[in-house]
Amino acid sequence: YESLSVGELANKLGKEPSEIIKKLFMLGVMATINQELDKDAIELICADYGVEVEEEVRIDVTDLEIYFEESEEQDAELTERPPVVTIMGHVDHGKTTLLDSIRDTKVTQGEAGGITQHIGAYQIEVEGKKITFLDTPGHAAFTTMRARGAKVTDLTILVVAADDGVMPQTIEAINHAKAAEVPIIVAVNKMDKPTANPDRVMQELTEQGLVAEDWGGDTIFVPISALKGEGIDQLLEMVLLVAEVGELKARKDINARGTVIEAQLDRGRGSVATLLVQDGTLRVGDPIVVGNTYGRVRAMINDIGRRVKEAGPSTPVEITGLSDVPQAGDRFVVFEDEKTARQIGEARAGEALQEQRVEKTRVTLDNLFDQM
Ligand code: GDP
Ligand code: MG
Repeated sequence: YESLSVGELANKLGKEPSEIIKKLFMLGVMATINQELDKDAIELICADYGVEVEEEVRIDVTDLEIYFEESEEQDAELTERPPVVTIMGHVDHGKTTLLDSIRDTKVTQGEAGGITQHIGAYQIEVEGKKITFLDTPGHAAFTTMRARGAKVTDLTILVVAADDGVMPQTIEAINHAKAAEVPIIVAVNKMDKPTANPDRVMQELTEQGLVAEDWGGDTIFVPISALKGEGIDQLLEMVLLVAEVGELKARKDINARGTVIEAQLDRGRGSVATLLVQDGTLRVGDPIVVGNTYGRVRAMINDIGRRVKEAGPSTPVEITGLSDVPQAGDRFVVFEDEKTARQIGEARAGEALQEQRVEKTRVTLDNLFDQM
């Protein structure tokens, strides 16, 4: 049990609540019958009675991860999907300039007049192949999403300014990528500067375990100038190459699931969320649970501000129609019918509220000992 009240624990042990309260008192805790006890405190009391705590394996119907991982539809056909790329690196090394440069030259579908819209991610097309870029600051995306166990990135571009070399956030970025087991491509930026010293960058990165292919390692280094748009094509080619090796696959013909990239409350449109579809196809009208909220997909807008009716794997879209604002890193899952989505969504919203309350009243082992 994650948590039980004193009364519930007494009930399970077949003891009087007053006896449990007395035991807690002996441990130095004044407790009431409704007091919530955490797992460690429960174990402590049980041990005192010589009772072993059995871990009850409960299937939590409100656990979105279960639906996210759901395997029953796995016989759906797997097709290739575009890689999802983040750009990381030390401040001022050129992440934003690179993201802009890539977007400006290669905006998807090449539709004339397509106004790029900031939705937290965008998609480009190179040699007939799509690449999705997360546009949110790489570090923040990694930390919030990884903290919630959501893996969204297939590959990261590590930007290192050739005139500055490896800096603290460069190393931080390498550690994030390694922990998430995401391959790194190094973009040695600002090559247009007279003070650029790419050898130094290679040397310093070697010390971090990223050894260039030229030096007998297996890390791809691409010299670029994000500002002048030089080396971008080679960089994108390498992205496609690494993606190909990764054999990224997804199923188009199942209900969509994926992760929230960003979300906010819009005055006119209500809750607005950018979702990255990771598997399946998301459609307007779909009943959906997103984090602790739910709804029906009312409208979808793509990265160039166009209304779309559906979005396949690795596609970022902005949706409206949710009853509340989810958080970056939250999972989303589409359900067959609205009733199920509403039930799970409401249960999750209720649980989230409950958790906040329990958090406030919970007696933890730490404060048990504090009081002893
Ligand atoms: P970020 O903090 O990593 O997002 O870095 P920015 O993209 O904001 O770039 C920081 C500064 O470096 C800006 O003044 C850019 O114009 C400049 N910069 C970025 N890329 C290049 C480049 O390839 N060459 C030169 N000379 N300057 C660059
Ligand atoms: Mg920036």
